[in-house]
Amino acid sequence: MNGEIITIGRELLMGEIVDTNASYFARELANAGVTVRWSSQVGDDIGHLHEAIDRALNRSQIIITSGGLGPTSDDLSREAVASVLGEQLSVDPEMLAWIEGVFRERGITEMPKTNVKQAHIVPSATFLPNPGGTAPGWWVRRNGSHIFMTPGPPREIKRMWASHIGPAVREMTGAGVVHTRILRTTGMTEGGIDELLGELFGIENPYLGIYAHVDGIQLRIISRAPTRQEAEQLAAPVEAEIRKRIGPSIWGADEDSAASRLGELLVENGMTAGVIDSGTGGAVASMISQTAGHERWFRGSLVTGPGASPLLESMLGGPADRLTGAVSEAAALQMAQSARRLTGADLGIGITPPSSEDDEQTRGTVFVAFVSSGPGGRPGELSGGQKVVQGRFYQSPDRALPRAAMFVLTEATRALALGEV
Ligand code: AMP
Ligand code: MG
Repeated sequence: MNGEIITIGRELLMGEIVDTNASYFARELANAGVTVRWSSQVGDDIGHLHEAIDRALNRSQIIITSGGLGPTSDDLSREAVASVLGEQLSVDPEMLAWIEGVFRERGITEMPKTNVKQAHIVPSATFLPNPGGTAPGWWVRRNGSHIFMTPGPPREIKRMWASHIGPAVREMTGAGVVHTRILRTTGMTEGGIDELLGELFGIENPYLGIYAHVDGIQLRIISRAPTRQEAEQLAAPVEAEIRKRIGPSIWGADEDSAASRLGELLVENGMTAGVIDSGTGGAVASMISQTAGHERWFRGSLVTGPGASPLLESMLGGPADRLTGAVSEAAALQMAQSARRLTGADLGIGITPPSSEDDEQTRGTVFVAFVSSGPGGRPGELSGGQKVVQGRFYQSPDRALPRAAMFVLTEATRALALGEV
């Protein structure tokens, strides 16, 4: 199959940005079995765009464009393709509602009128979802040729290629689809997982990979098949077997982040969370605050230094000398209970400072406690489930703090999922 790439934007022709989208698509198309014969750059000019797209449709089966899908008047890719096809643009109400929703999520209640443009489409096209932005792409089918239109930002085109365009092109060329399913674990070592999954690592298709990641050990089930559906069917029994053996250690899948998964579970259970943090320097609150929708479930975090202080004493509501600065289960539990009391949250999380003992075996040990009212309990009530876990983070602070924060979030997720708190 012949392929053609058209990258769109005046800034490309002015030499202001490097055309990394063209090289990205060239590489991916080659890998997917498409022979790219032409690649061109075109400015934001309706006549020039018309000419380039018309010519591409006459000579290439797979055409990918990037750029010109923004909301402003110099974004003309939709208009150009519509004019080549001889079709009328009209608003798709569902897409309009979706774009309005993206703005609302970003805290903008009134979507700018210009963005209505991004909900327009023609009859020969369907939308290509763009999870990373407001501009959806288009997939146009005409006389056996396909045009895939993508926006300009490199981060967005990569996600769209991986999720939709790549699999579709590979299916057409027969190069086959590579499907990756990620399972995210916590609380286990690579060695421990290896022991339990043993022979599953020896299979070629689906191939099982294991990787250490800051949020825990990741398992990747990579399957190859002629179609996406078949590739998913190959992976499913392996996933089921993994879940049978180490299910309780799996806290998320694919693009889940530790904080987003925790938030989902809390919202499902009608719960909120609050934190007293002497162990991650506020990294837990920072990660939560970067997660969409956290205002629905996050009641706040009080961050203290590792040593005894009047602040910590007043948070704990009692004599400090026994517990403050102490690295113990009891200290973590007291902090978690105080977190519930002070933030009014259902789930209290207490994080002790890391142990600074000289002992090689215990240095960097952090205790983390989770306390909740249990189902039906009220904020502030001390009843229901509680759980304490411990981890060790002995790297330099720039690496240890994010790891410790990930540990807290993934363990909280696991405790909730298992109904322990
Ligand atoms: P656009 O969708 O045309 O408004 O482009 C949005 C942004 O994406 C531009 O400002 C560039 O930063 C980036 N961009 C657009 N086209 C390319 C390209 N061919 N290669 C790399 N970056 C691009
Ligand atoms: Mg542009």
